[in-house]
Amino acid sequence: MALWTLPDWDEHEKVDVVHDRDSGLTAIIALHSTHLGPGAGGTRFWHYAEPEGAMRDALRLSRGMSYKNAMAGLPMGGGKAVVVLDKDGTKTRDMLHAFGDAVQAMDGRYVTAEDVGASESDMVTIAERTDHVCGLPAQEGDAGGDPGPFTAMGIYHGIKAAVAHKLDKDSMQGVRVAIQGCGSVGGGVARLLAKDGARLTLSDIDEARAQALAEELGAKAVHADQIMGTPCDVFSPNALGAVLDDAGIARLDCRIVAGGANNQLARPEHGRQLHARGILYAPDYVINAGGIINVSLEYLCRRDGTPCDINEVRKRIAQIPGRLDAIWEQSEASDVPSNEVADAMAQELIGRGR
Ligand code: NAD
Repeated sequence: MALWTLPDWDEHEKVDVVHDRDSGLTAIIALHSTHLGPGAGGTRFWHYAEPEGAMRDALRLSRGMSYKNAMAGLPMGGGKAVVVLDKDGTKTRDMLHAFGDAVQAMDGRYVTAEDVGASESDMVTIAERTDHVCGLPAQEGDAGGDPGPFTAMGIYHGIKAAVAHKLDKDSMQGVRVAIQGCGSVGGGVARLLAKDGARLTLSDIDEARAQALAEELGAKAVHADQIMGTPCDVFSPNALGAVLDDAGIARLDCRIVAGGANNQLARPEHGRQLHARGILYAPDYVINAGGIINVSLEYLCRRDGTPCDINEVRKRIAQIPGRLDAIWEQSEASDVPSNEVADAMAQELIGRGR
């Protein structure tokens, strides 16, 4: 399919394909909306077999960021970048500099940060060429730094809210949670839930990683192919997107889906399938906003002095469960799937900023 006819286009304001011959950088910067503020969203460093995969990710993830930032009450629009890596995952300082130049050329309309495949030190290198980057190392007590632990904190609160809402339990003691992906986000969620006595089953395509975390937390590790069929109360997807497709949903044996991966639903109608099966779904861009709350406050503090201490970040992350409850209540009252309720709320907020 031609890149400009993909179904993932959604009135994006601007999409740049960046190629820098000298460094070998190939990247896409997708700006979905700046109606509420600069389009903020991280950069994914990934090897894509086909250009279509990279463009799809950039288009879908940038739209998701518009919705995420609106629902988190941030004065930010939505954008996202992907840097296309070769098979060996080569990422050089020159490539990061060329990428920083491309971000700077957008003149503050796009603000970048970490996503899959990126580290704090990558952001430091990018910051040598542009001011419009966050997720930079932070002083103790300030917002900023790796967004992963803050994303995990928001998901932890969101899972507890889902368990209270669906299972009528105010404790995680003995609640069975199956976690897909044990990286920055999934690992953080697992550690927080383990402290509360949840019964965890972990998986990662990096089996040694899942096994090591399982040993640390007294949890069970299963093969990556088995996690979606694991009988549990909560399935928590924290790896890559589109795991909730026809086959994935058919395998689920859970009452709740609540996790941090972006774009969990392969298509919007998969939210309808979850709803029809009576599975409570926490819309991904609502529950996983903790990281962008942290780095956006870091950026806004640097730009115009918005309060940015860690307590402000925690206060805003603690509002995630209330947003989820409002979505679930409306979903149940109207018999409309939670993803559609959330989309309508986000679209209204973005529309008000026009
Ligand atoms: P990460 O790279 O630290 O971890 C991802 C983990 O998932 C890796 O250990 C990887 O081996 C594993 N994995 C990949 N495919 C898998 C599969 N099919 N089954 C099981 N494990 C698999 O990335 P992260 O920062 O933890 O991000 C995880 C997800 O959360 C991504 O979808 C990301 O877009 C989303 N997210 C991250 C943040 C953040 O602050 N880091 C914020 C919002 C959303």
